[in-house]
Amino acid sequence: MKINVKDEIAAISEEILAIRRDIHAHPELGFQEFRTAQLVEDQLNGLGLRVRRCAGTGVIGVLEGAKTGKTVMLRAELDALPITEENDLPFCSQNPGVMHACGHDCNTAIQLGVAKILAAHRGELPGTVVFLFQPNEEDCGAPQMIEDGALLDPRPDAIFSSHVWSPIPTGKIGVVPGPQCASSYYFKVTIHGQDTAGYAPWQGVSPIDCARHVMDAIDTMQTLEYNTLDEPTLITVGMIHGGNYMINIPADLEMQGSIRCLHNREKAVHARFREIVEDVCKAYRCTCSVEITCGNNLLSNDEALHNIVCGVSREVLGGDSVVTAGVREMGGDDLAEFFRTGIPGCYYLIGMGNPAKGSVAAHHNKNFRVDEDVLDIAVELQSRAVLRYLGVQ
Ligand SMILES: [Zn+2]
Ligand SMILES: [Zn+2]
Repeated sequence: MKINVKDEIAAISEEILAIRRDIHAHPELGFQEFRTAQLVEDQLNGLGLRVRRCAGTGVIGVLEGAKTGKTVMLRAELDALPITEENDLPFCSQNPGVMHACGHDCNTAIQLGVAKILAAHRGELPGTVVFLFQPNEEDCGAPQMIEDGALLDPRPDAIFSSHVWSPIPTGKIGVVPGPQCASSYYFKVTIHGQDTAGYAPWQGVSPIDCARHVMDAIDTMQTLEYNTLDEPTLITVGMIHGGNYMINIPADLEMQGSIRCLHNREKAVHARFREIVEDVCKAYRCTCSVEITCGNNLLSNDEALHNIVCGVSREVLGGDSVVTAGVREMGGDDLAEFFRTGIPGCYYLIGMGNPAKGSVAAHHNKNFRVDEDVLDIAVELQSRAVLRYLGVQ
């Protein structure tokens, strides 16, 4: 089996671009991707794939090759963000207050491109390719898909997912083996003191004063208790609410934030956090409750799949095309939920930062723009990664 991927992509390039612009003009928020899901479903049906819905607006297309082999899954995201677009483009968002400001319109169009390329070679394909289109990535929609059987019938042996990425220049990709996106857990600490008048603080116990000691202790914990090189750990407080009258001391205070770990020892970090908060509260005569809930789990790339992606990138984009600086991040991605079920995977970033195209704004920004030249590049990288994994070329 020999496919001239580049030539075949050139033939569908206009179509992929049109799909991307159509999705961009009609962005939809998480779990409300009705139009986008229908578009994807129609495209996959048109290719003769076995198509099903999953978790409402999720879509899964299964391409069964004529020959037996391994099963590989690709994942793209469908959702947009609650942002008002401020670009001046003919295909700008037509839905006020909603914008594809993370590039998921591109990721979806790219994955449809890969489906078109590979479906045309079904007769020679040794294995199965699962095209998974996920709703609500921005707020962790992956678990609902898994609960709804996304990883069954068939169960993948490996997962690849690519994401267009403006901080990396066009023509490069970003990927590292091992931990790439941090786990992110949310905490809610409620501190209970004793309310009193501000002129007689000794008659009560101030949860506000206690909270500043808790924050000090959390800072010390994250800076002094972990090796920043091996165990990157970040604890930030994003919300504090306490009191409702300036001359009184309140009874309670609520503090919320996140604990991020770019290593797999997060359970120990959570336990230590709980211990420190409880002990500091006790020292300052308060009681407390500590709730820790999961936002995202650690996303860690499989080394062999990482090597496939790097090999393909060097062939397509050149020997120095793989960058690692700035790729690891303390932000999370819910692709980790699929990996956590025991399926090895690789998540990589497709550079599309290009000052000449104005595609340098940060993701989630109202001026976010894309260098559309990377659509073809990405279709080629993903198609080749699948073929290499299936042992074809
Ligand atoms: Zn995003
Ligand atoms: Zn994204």
